[in-house]
Amino acid sequence: MTTPSPQKQGLLRVLDATRYLPQFKKGLLAHLANPRRAITVCFPVEMDDGSVRSFFGYRVLHNNVLGPGKGGLRFHPDLSLEEVSSLAALMTWKCALIEVPFGGAKGGVVCDTKQLSAGELRRITRRFISELGDNIGPHTDIPAPDMYTNAQTMALVYDTYDTMHPGRNNRPVVTGKPIDQGGSLGRRDATGNGVAFATERFVRLQGLNGHKHLGGLRVVIQGFGNVGYAAAHAFQRLGARITALSDSRGGIHCEEGIDLQAALAHKRENGHLSGLPGTTNLSNEDLLALECDILVPAASASQVHAENAPRVQARLVVEAANDPLTPQADLLLQERGIPVLPDILANAGGVCVSYFEWVQNIQNQSWSEQEVEQKLRHRMHHTVEAVLRRHQQLVKAHPDDPHAALLRTAALALAIERVTCATLERGIWP
Ligand code: NAD
Repeated sequence: MTTPSPQKQGLLRVLDATRYLPQFKKGLLAHLANPRRAITVCFPVEMDDGSVRSFFGYRVLHNNVLGPGKGGLRFHPDLSLEEVSSLAALMTWKCALIEVPFGGAKGGVVCDTKQLSAGELRRITRRFISELGDNIGPHTDIPAPDMYTNAQTMALVYDTYDTMHPGRNNRPVVTGKPIDQGGSLGRRDATGNGVAFATERFVRLQGLNGHKHLGGLRVVIQGFGNVGYAAAHAFQRLGARITALSDSRGGIHCEEGIDLQAALAHKRENGHLSGLPGTTNLSNEDLLALECDILVPAASASQVHAENAPRVQARLVVEAANDPLTPQADLLLQERGIPVLPDILANAGGVCVSYFEWVQNIQNQSWSEQEVEQKLRHRMHHTVEAVLRRHQQLVKAHPDDPHAALLRTAALALAIERVTCATLERGIWP
């Protein structure tokens, strides 16, 4: 059987969750499957060799009932409107779940950043933002970095928008900016930290293998990028032991615990993790099947699927990446009693600190890293508690339904319910 695309999987999961919300009017939940606004632009850019190339860009605002749109800008050659729409919807649910006053959005440009010079990227970014015009704004729709965009890209987004709207505080138009342009301390590690904080609260409340704390638990992390590294660091600070790590070239394993600084230095020097002294090399497939307490897929979509889910030996899976488990894998792990902390909960730390950046920008303030981390930890804990409460209710009401037993269903039901209730409170226009 072919695995449905992550976009299709996302939609199916939302539809699954809406089955547990019978209280809403007919048609209302179906409406939430569609984006409120989808913009496609095509613009010319002068290239370094003097030629002119056309680029396509998208910005989708999925929902803005709870607040302005929020979501990343992705520069990728395979970007499509379908993918952007699906990612925008995911942002709606993520923001609603973590209770930040934002709706969901996403956007980007179809381009291969590896084939473009810094000057070409600058011209693409500025022209794209000018094409979007007032469809983005501090109280309309607020972009952030995503795949192949970074703090420098966000500085250009800010500068372009500021040039077009002089004489007012435009910093909150975009998050993920460089710190001296109004970026927040603690944003770089926020997603990884949030992953560890969510897990910490889950283990405290539900227990794991007789433990109520992360101290001494063995953690395996797939993916050693921004999120994987920060998560590994945060788990270690909270007392856990990182026993395996991987990147796209393969993994490393050491039951006594991996020295993260040595792993980072080795990766910087060699371009990959494998071969780190004191560890054993293993494939990514074998890493997913390692005996451990917590498995954290922090790389890309659909890594755990129907074929390899039966080999997973972790006691808890925490989704740091977006959509790393297929729906079949969800159910297979569920049958084996392995809970999964879903992406919209586990990796919501990034958007949470993006919200903190927006608040600091509006107030023209700068919070310390410690303050940001404390606020993030509190919010992640609070959200885990809310999801566990909804999970208990669902399991009680639907004892023989495997979908109702998924933490993902509880998280999605809670998020969809919040957006739907707000829609009704505001009233359907006219
Ligand atoms: P990144 O590009 O910094 O890191 C990705 C890492 O995964 C790299 O180490 C890469 O080598 C590795 N990798 C790629 N394919 C792999 C494979 N098949 N097996 C093992 N490792 C593989 O990306 P990131 O910012 O760390 O994001 C990781 C995931 O988290 C993505 O799914 C992203 O959408 C999601 N996410 C990121 C953020 C954020 O704030 N960066 C927020 C929410 C969700």
